[in-house]
Amino acid sequence: MAKTRLFILYTGGTIGMGPQNPEVSDSPLIPQSWEQLQRYMHSIHEDGYFSKVKNIEFEYHSFPVLLDSSQLDISHWIQMAKEIEKRYDDFDGFIIIHGTDTMAYTASGLSFIFNNLNKPVVLTGSQLPISHSRTDAITNFSNAIHIAGAKAFGLPPINEVSICFNDRLLRGNRSTKASTNVFEGFVSPDYPPLAELEEAIKVKTRNLMEAPDGAFSINTNLNPNVIILTLFPGFRVEHLQKLIEDDEIDGLIIKTYGSGNAPCTEPFLSCLKQAKKQGTTILFTTQCLQGGVKLGKYAASDVFRPIGVISGGDLTNEAALAKMMWVLGQKSSAAEVEKLLQTNMRGEVTF
Ligand code: ASP
Repeated sequence: MAKTRLFILYTGGTIGMGPQNPEVSDSPLIPQSWEQLQRYMHSIHEDGYFSKVKNIEFEYHSFPVLLDSSQLDISHWIQMAKEIEKRYDDFDGFIIIHGTDTMAYTASGLSFIFNNLNKPVVLTGSQLPISHSRTDAITNFSNAIHIAGAKAFGLPPINEVSICFNDRLLRGNRSTKASTNVFEGFVSPDYPPLAELEEAIKVKTRNLMEAPDGAFSINTNLNPNVIILTLFPGFRVEHLQKLIEDDEIDGLIIKTYGSGNAPCTEPFLSCLKQAKKQGTTILFTTQCLQGGVKLGKYAASDVFRPIGVISGGDLTNEAALAKMMWVLGQKSSAAEVEKLLQTNMRGEVTF
């Protein structure tokens, strides 16, 4: 059987965490070393099942400082992308071990940074540390090995950035963290799973992206001057006005109500007009977990069309943020930005 080579990048997260002070019950959790984590991963040891029976060879790299994923920023997305780029030709698949808090953001970010990705990049983590007697880490991690190492298991390749969690494989830029405590930590409300990992592994080939044409590369030009604003009843336009006046926001994502509805007041409309005039790209997403924005469905969204607000369709807020940063990072014309935001680039949106 031909060798399958998998690269594992450990960035931190609950999966490898332990108490800051082991003497104190309820001591806060902090990330622990790869060596600590690996002690519990018997299946990947050299004489373990994956290596011995499936001829899988593993290589590991650990972030120099392991992080709770709430501490990550876009420089970490770039770091992860570069670690994979360096090894792209030498490995069959990639697993990123990551905290759950911002896993869907990282997966979305990477999906745009990678160009012509033609190998699996699987993010996984867990709700309970691997040392816990009822941990979900072992299942999630070993499922991730099956997906990243598809070749060794006779499975169709899933050459996308995905999240493997609780026996399901979700497209990364369609996922969102939905629970802090149940094992089904992630949902993909507007796109079906890429695979289900029950007794048998069922890869849903019709849900997968088409194979790309060109060579793999990374494009790490991201514009960080993007914010997300959640609307709420009683929202005061003055606060947004101040942000706009500072003129430092290139991309404004507004989490609107329902299918793109927002207050049609004069101050709000003129604030958005001013932002547009200053060159800010405005994208409407929805606060709803499922469904998307349809500007013009209601009068309460139609008024925003003439201003030049762009519909985010059924983008998750994580994907909207990553896409906006990436698109604005390409320094294209306003028309090109608008076109890209309304294009399905990485399977992230259905218009
Ligand atoms: N705070 C943790 C993190 O995101 C939570 C987790 O991994 O489940 O790193």
